[in-house]
Amino acid sequence: MSGVPVAVVTGSNKGVGLAIVRALCKQFPGDVYLTSRDPGRGQAAVAQLQQEGLRPLFHQLDIDDLQSIRAFRDFLKDKYGGINVLVNNAGIAFKVNDTTPFAVQAEVTLKTNFFGTRNVSTELLPLMKPYGRVVNVSSMQSSLALGRCSQELQQKFRSDTITEDELVQLMTKFVEDTKKNIHEKEGWPNTAYGVSKIGVTVLSRIQARLLNEQRKGDHILLNACCPGWVRTDMAGPKATKSPDEGAETPVYLALLPSSADAPHGQFVSDKTVKPW
Ligand code: NAP
Repeated sequence: MSGVPVAVVTGSNKGVGLAIVRALCKQFPGDVYLTSRDPGRGQAAVAQLQQEGLRPLFHQLDIDDLQSIRAFRDFLKDKYGGINVLVNNAGIAFKVNDTTPFAVQAEVTLKTNFFGTRNVSTELLPLMKPYGRVVNVSSMQSSLALGRCSQELQQKFRSDTITEDELVQLMTKFVEDTKKNIHEKEGWPNTAYGVSKIGVTVLSRIQARLLNEQRKGDHILLNACCPGWVRTDMAGPKATKSPDEGAETPVYLALLPSSADAPHGQFVSDKTVKPW
């Protein structure tokens, strides 16, 4: 087993994820894994960074596929005995003008952004080493969507006692409500992406609380963040930040020094804790 520290970034063959890998290759003292659901796209991204003189490693990872997640988990466990840095970056968004029925958009978006991210966490968080850092890439859209939920839903999503099971039930209910076209009547905002990212931010708050309860002495810090509005295939060319600029906040959270005990369980944007 290698004693080398290891950092892992999901969905990192392009966009913000690729820029996070680039920055970690320069700043993280250990092995950095660029992962992609498609090995061809992943290897092409590795080759691109090699052209820049960097040395990322590659492993396949499709966060929609439990077998793929578990194969990666077993690989990391065998080779490194754990994980030092995990960045849950992989995500999807339908374009605003996409004509796919809203209920389908809701199911597909929640599947990857919430349920896929949760499955990765379920399998990989137990491998986090002491002083590990976990970054869940959410979005400001989560805060905006929260503000457009009913008072009852807002109270649940801001609760300091909500459980992961309760959150899963709420995310499942959103998808079911969209199928019956009653989601607005039930207090949900009309945004599948926004609700999926509410799920990511609230999941992060729950995971941080569980770390406090179950692994207090291990000094693991876990946060959600927004990279900003970033010029990627997702957000388009009009966005204000370059991918490298978008990587700054996730990388700051991934490299919080071992002396830090905060932020933890927060939603962070522009390296600043934001109210939830
Ligand atoms: P992007 O350019 O579309 O990249 C998304 C990445 O996620 C791609 O590598 C994609 O792989 C991967 N991915 C999607 N589904 C996956 C799955 N099931 N398994 C593994 N990888 C998967 O988007 P981006 O702008 O870089 O977004 C990165 C993260 O930042 C996302 O979580 C997004 O929601 C968040 N974010 C972005 C912005 C922005 O302005 N860009 C703002 C706020 C938050 P493929 O190439 O195979 O599709």
